[in-house]
Amino acid sequence: MLDKIVIANRGEIALRILRACKELGIKTVAIHSTADRDLKHVRLADESVCIGGASAMDSYLNIPAIISAAEVTDAVAIHPGYGFLAENADFAEQVEKSGFVFIGPKPSTIRMMGDKISAIKSMKDAGVPCVPGSGGDLGDDANKNIEMANKIGYPVIIKAAGGGGGRGMRVVHSDATLINAISVTKTEAGNFFGNSEVYMEKYLENPRHIEVQVLADEHGNSIHLGERDCSMQRRHQKVIEESPAPGISPEQREKIGTICAEACKRIGYRGAGTFEFLYEKGEFYFIEMNTRVQVEHPVTEMVTGIDIIKEQLKIAAGKQLKYKQRDVKVNGHAIECRVNAEDPATFIPWPGKITQYHAPGGPGIRVDSHIYNGYTIPSYYDSMIGKVITHGGNRLEAIARMRNALDEIVIEGIRTNIPLQKELIDDAAFISGGTNIHYLEDKLERKAK
Ligand code: ADP
Repeated sequence: MLDKIVIANRGEIALRILRACKELGIKTVAIHSTADRDLKHVRLADESVCIGGASAMDSYLNIPAIISAAEVTDAVAIHPGYGFLAENADFAEQVEKSGFVFIGPKPSTIRMMGDKISAIKSMKDAGVPCVPGSGGDLGDDANKNIEMANKIGYPVIIKAAGGGGGRGMRVVHSDATLINAISVTKTEAGNFFGNSEVYMEKYLENPRHIEVQVLADEHGNSIHLGERDCSMQRRHQKVIEESPAPGISPEQREKIGTICAEACKRIGYRGAGTFEFLYEKGEFYFIEMNTRVQVEHPVTEMVTGIDIIKEQLKIAAGKQLKYKQRDVKVNGHAIECRVNAEDPATFIPWPGKITQYHAPGGPGIRVDSHIYNGYTIPSYYDSMIGKVITHGGNRLEAIARMRNALDEIVIEGIRTNIPLQKELIDDAAFISGGTNIHYLEDKLERKAK
């Protein structure tokens, strides 16, 4: 097994990784910024190193500082968590070149998936269903682009190859605005992402977001752990996630899951990963692959009983996957509500001191969070402060348990989105299941009127 690893992240995911390491007997090094000395995992880690100032640029995005921390502590590997440098191919490469194990896929895989055009090409070749589209960079020939849009059929979406975080996209409804939209998106893409390549896709009007979790080792074994529905979103940020996805049959799961697991073999994928799809009228359309652990991984862990972080660590140590596809069973249903330090109506971030914290409990309830009584949430980072996950024998039981958990949880001193989460858990359309990616924003708009 790996002897000692650096946890190159903060907050709940750093704590989650630390817990997995402790179970496996791996020693841990917590790196942190000057604003994060009081993080729970920093206190619990075997060693900790302050690597820089509060701004993420100076700390969690500071590649030389992170690698130095690994060197001075004699660590053997680095876990990037999610966000920050997790999908930065240059970081992964420098980690490996410095003689450490990067707990994730090969740098070349991250690079390929980071460019959406090359990602789509490789997925198409691997037999993964994609959104009908240009499949490549749009040239400057206006007539050709208009012809393509008409062939695909309006509405279409123009997307930056280097885009991310829901930025660098523009929906177009007619010839009249197409050419301008392409040139504006190109310019923006060049400025934001340093890559002005853009492509065209059919714009799906009312899809759901359904994603497939995979695990692959470096010996050519790969499995899928079923799917998650993450359609409850605001501004492309997921708010509630669940597994399995309502209405997806075991046959559909097996079919799309097998396609993903096979694609992993095709591209030589290593580690945990997620294939994200838009799902509309019974069809899956690949949009991107995330080459890291996801925020919402716990719902998959709850229904499959497989610890995704421990699997990442074992794969990074060069071990063979001990699970075969037939060992993976989906038991019951799990839901995750993200807890954000923000105003529940205006969504303005609300950092500050937690004066009172009480965690929920009872059967089927899991809380992944680094907060504690007296902890002060710094203002420098993401507003997500934890996740409440519930598991039940079926979806309604998971919902009932979530209702209990959200009623029980007490977080005082700051504002949180828990009032909104309570409302969503009681929402008739959510309870029926299968709402699309516009549902939450439409609901919030109706409320604002
Ligand atoms: P990012 O890397 O920025 O998250 P994605 O390609 O994952 O970009 O797209 C982000 C979101 O944009 C999707 O979850 C979906 O809501 C919307 N979107 C992207 N492509 C399409 C499409 N072809 N049709 C409809 N919506 C889309």
